[in-house]
Amino acid sequence: MTSPIVRFAPSPTGRLHVGNVRTALINYLFAKGQNGKFLLRIDDTDLERSTKDYEDGLKTDLNWLGITWDDTFNQSDRFGNYDAAVEKLKSAGLLYACYETPEELERKRKIALSRGRPPVYDRSGLSLSDTEIKAFEAEGRTPHWRFKLSGDRVEWNDLVRGPQSIDTSSVSDPILVRGDGSYLYTLPSVVDDIEYGITHVVRGEDHVTNSGAQIEIFRALGGTSPDMAHTPLLIGADGQGLSKRLGSLSMMELSKKGIEPMAIASLLAKIGTSDNVELKPSLEVLCEEFSFDKIGRAPARFDEADLYKLNAAILQEMEPSLAVAKLAELEGFHTIGAPELFWDTIKGNISTISEANDWIEVVTGKIQDTDLSEDQDYLRAALEHLPSGAFDLETWSSWTGELKAATGRKGRGLFMPLRKALTGLERGPEMNRMIVLLGEETCRARLEKAIV
Ligand code: GLU
Repeated sequence: MTSPIVRFAPSPTGRLHVGNVRTALINYLFAKGQNGKFLLRIDDTDLERSTKDYEDGLKTDLNWLGITWDDTFNQSDRFGNYDAAVEKLKSAGLLYACYETPEELERKRKIALSRGRPPVYDRSGLSLSDTEIKAFEAEGRTPHWRFKLSGDRVEWNDLVRGPQSIDTSSVSDPILVRGDGSYLYTLPSVVDDIEYGITHVVRGEDHVTNSGAQIEIFRALGGTSPDMAHTPLLIGADGQGLSKRLGSLSMMELSKKGIEPMAIASLLAKIGTSDNVELKPSLEVLCEEFSFDKIGRAPARFDEADLYKLNAAILQEMEPSLAVAKLAELEGFHTIGAPELFWDTIKGNISTISEANDWIEVVTGKIQDTDLSEDQDYLRAALEHLPSGAFDLETWSSWTGELKAATGRKGRGLFMPLRKALTGLERGPEMNRMIVLLGEETCRARLEKAIV
């Protein structure tokens, strides 16, 4: 097989989000796993909705995920190529002018439906007389242009969905050029795929019906159709369609929340596949593991909670110096005396860096009041036996060892009142580290405060 050339083709009308980053990843992993090329095509033919800021944002977000491209281009620079394709289709008699207004088309649709017929365009544009055309133009109408489908079945072997067959007589001839001369997505996409030698079109299954028409356009323009892979859409954890909020959850928001790129890539590359979802160290590893055969036909479940679990796993393994550098961006972190010890202490109790704020507060700020009325005598004993001087990682076991001997308490009864008095919480990092972070003075003050 020759090396694949794929493209990811977002419209710059928003930031990169969970809904489209999966398509980007699958394209990238497939191409790079086979020494192929990944192109970034900016689908900005809609000049009103597309912005340069969004385009820059998409690029920043892809790079943040570790996705780079071998080439990138904008459709808005290529109108001349699309115009040439239009001329070619017109002279082949495959592009015809239609003059219906949207209201007229809607009326036709309703009539067809009320007669129990599929609402397929009736091709009246094909049989207009010169007089009719002149009359429309005298009214100031400008034509939109439809591609004449063959009426045959279009078949392809989809790399994800298997054998596909679309009866083009059951779909309307697609509009390729609007009345104002602007392009719909269908034709430019095919022109670019031909001219950039795209070998595989990999996209969401919402494009399956477009593929029927596009394969015919590939043929009409003298190209061969690339292989196609249509991946199932994402659904939410509840099995429903991905909510607007989740679908539009952007890489920018996730990065602000402290989610690491590999948590996103690990999750989105694996959901809906036969592989387990687990943290992977790099895109290279995901490339090696990628195969279209592993992608199932059922929708892929996206659960935001999984993202946090994977992120927690990244934090567990993070280089302490890198973690400390990230922590340093949190307000309040400068109050922590032993940064690396702090990291070691709390890393198992957070799923994003910003959650460390809660533990900074526990170590250096004010803690919550807890009910310790049953443990007053015990806390007095704890205060009496509290070691003095610098604490180290042995202090906790010697202190609680003494307390055990002195009070006869053990297990939860021994530890929990101390945890509550010293941290204001019933759960948290290991206390042997925690009391080193707190130091003797704070431990003493907190125990005194707990004794009423
Ligand atoms: N801009 C199109 C989209 O985002 C591209 C579809 C395709 O990959 O052909 O849906």
